[in-house]
Amino acid sequence: MEPLLEFRDVSVRFSPHRKLSDVFRRTELQEICAMDGVNLTVHRGEIHAIVGESGSGKSTLARVATRLQTPTEGQIFMNGEDVTTLGSQAAVRAYRKRVQMIFQDPFSSLNPSQTIFDHVAEPLIVNNLGGGAKSISEKVLSTIASAGLRPAEIFARRYPDELSGGQRQRAVIAGALVMEPELVIADEPVSMLDVSVSAEILKLLLELRVSRGLAYIFITHDLHLAAAIADRVTVMRKGRIIETGLPQQVLKDPAQEYTRQLLDSAPSLDEALQRRASRRSVSGASASGTLADVAGPVQS
Ligand code: ADP
Ligand code: MG
Repeated sequence: MEPLLEFRDVSVRFSPHRKLSDVFRRTELQEICAMDGVNLTVHRGEIHAIVGESGSGKSTLARVATRLQTPTEGQIFMNGEDVTTLGSQAAVRAYRKRVQMIFQDPFSSLNPSQTIFDHVAEPLIVNNLGGGAKSISEKVLSTIASAGLRPAEIFARRYPDELSGGQRQRAVIAGALVMEPELVIADEPVSMLDVSVSAEILKLLLELRVSRGLAYIFITHDLHLAAAIADRVTVMRKGRIIETGLPQQVLKDPAQEYTRQLLDSAPSLDEALQRRASRRSVSGASASGTLADVAGPVQS
């Protein structure tokens, strides 16, 4: 597979907030190193999971990859082109078109006073990409439908508070897809959703990967989930990559004790789905719905 996004020795440091008392006491404050010498390659069409406990630097990695955050050190390449410093506004726009982000909380990603149509149309209009009103409208409606909000004409007219949590996340996904990105960065995209809704959203992301040839950086604290859906799993701790490998390899034979602890401690969506399915099978209903089912088409 061709490399799409590469990080070379990327570090991000934040200077701590100095309180007045620190100034008086002349306390030397330590810099916060959110990313420390990170090397990472995401290949075209790949799902690359980033796993780590809270504070390990996952969201910083996501912000650097979308260029919302400039690295303190290191270089970033997209399709072999150095994009570490995006000079012009036009270069930033071109980059944002190729790399889109989906956040954890769909509600805060949507403007409560904007319809879903306007939310999805906005990036096309702002970036002058859509052509005329008719072609914008067609594109927006077909994208809303491809995010699973059907009939799209009905959902397009709705406001965020008229949607369920899962439908909101679909609207956010539509807003990312409309730009036809090559890479989507999903930062804990299902961690605020109910178990069965999570499985549906994951299924959608996996389908879109196939139908649109998308690559994902999929950020999660759930190593079991990462292993179930990803082609490659990278484990972060305190801003560093401590392990990377194929999912089965990381899951079966973790190289680091920390990874083993993540495996033991993470509340697993996959396990939760299996518990649900076994409860349903006891009550006579279908036992489908595990992440193995969700991830199935990708491995084939
Ligand atoms: P994660 O997403 O894995 O929970 P983050 O990337 O959000 O981790 O944070 C990594 C570390 O960097 C944490 O210690 C966090 O407090 C710190 N950090 C993140 N953003 C900032 C910022 N803007 N200013 C100062 N410290 C930050
Ligand atoms: Mg985070």
